[in-house]
Amino acid sequence: MCKVMKKHNFYAGPSIMSQYTIDHTIEAIRDFAGTGLSVMEVSHRSKEFQAVMDEAQALMKELLDVPEGYEVLFLGGGASLQFCMVPYNLLKTKAGYVDSGTWAHKAIKEAKLFGDVEIVASSEADHYVYYPEIKNVPTDLDYLHITTNNTIFGTELREDPDVPVRMVADMSSDIFTRPVDVSKYDLIYGGAQKNLAPAGVTFVIVKADALGKAPREIPTMLNYETHVKKGSMFNTPPVLPIYSALQTLKWYKQLGGVKKLQQLGEEKARVLYDAIDGSKMFVGTVKPESRSITNVCFVMKPDYAELEKEFLDFAGTRGIVGIKGHRSVGGFRASLYNALPLESVQVLVQAMHDFEAKH
Ligand SMILES: *Cc1c(COP(=O)(O)O)cnc(C)c1O
Repeated sequence: MCKVMKKHNFYAGPSIMSQYTIDHTIEAIRDFAGTGLSVMEVSHRSKEFQAVMDEAQALMKELLDVPEGYEVLFLGGGASLQFCMVPYNLLKTKAGYVDSGTWAHKAIKEAKLFGDVEIVASSEADHYVYYPEIKNVPTDLDYLHITTNNTIFGTELREDPDVPVRMVADMSSDIFTRPVDVSKYDLIYGGAQKNLAPAGVTFVIVKADALGKAPREIPTMLNYETHVKKGSMFNTPPVLPIYSALQTLKWYKQLGGVKKLQQLGEEKARVLYDAIDGSKMFVGTVKPESRSITNVCFVMKPDYAELEKEFLDFAGTRGIVGIKGHRSVGGFRASLYNALPLESVQVLVQAMHDFEAKH
């Protein structure tokens, strides 16, 4: 199989995928499960694809230690559609939201269409440079919505908080980076394009008995119950991204599961944060206790601010791509998703050292 020269890919999403996933997907695009057909041209109702769907759901449950009573769905529409589907299905009178950044903000906007929204904690006034403390959560909420990793601002909540109500979480960018206590949540969702698959599929883990209680008619496609009943096969699911997701899940299992991924991820983050903290030129933008292990945001110190563009070009000559910061934060953002090898982080750190030595 022809292999393209790999870059050091730090894009925030869509983002780096494992070679395992890419190679196995290419194989199935040529010949899917010995059918003589491409996975792109086979019926989603075929027994071969049904087996892919079944195995992907089972591996999600196994790797994330999902308890009885929960269903795994693979839907279209991105995490952004979940911002609306969650309150459509689960908000009865009042929901709580933690406002920890841009994505949380977007989720809040949609929830307000369906009922009362209480902002339980927010770091907006401080430009989201830390994860807001979650305390005094009212007991009369239908659910508390959290965004565990803030992909844009680089803050993360690396635990499942103890609160007196059920939780819903957007885990788009930190799923499979730590064990999660799924039993605290009614629903967990995320776009696949960060740690799972190419864009086009969204995973949802939902507690079945949380559904069917909202006091409104829900359009068929936006009703989780439709997809639970039909096993994510009510209509044509995103077949190819689901196939790729299964490959990533198999690769995660081979690597040793979520605890192993956590260890590898924390090691990569430590190497990069140590380099930032030891630098005279670069500085992190996030309070240390809130630092994301996946999206590492940093800027040039004021004395060096005019060198930003030059560093991006310099890094480019080392094969480093995708480190330009989000337009709302500026500077740099290095995303260290599971498929990114430690070696790429070392190349970035070396580039930072060498650039500093030049100036
Ligand atoms: C990327 C991202 C989203 C948006 O996902 P889409 O699939 O593009 O809708 C939402 N939330 C978080 C935390 C993200 O990182």
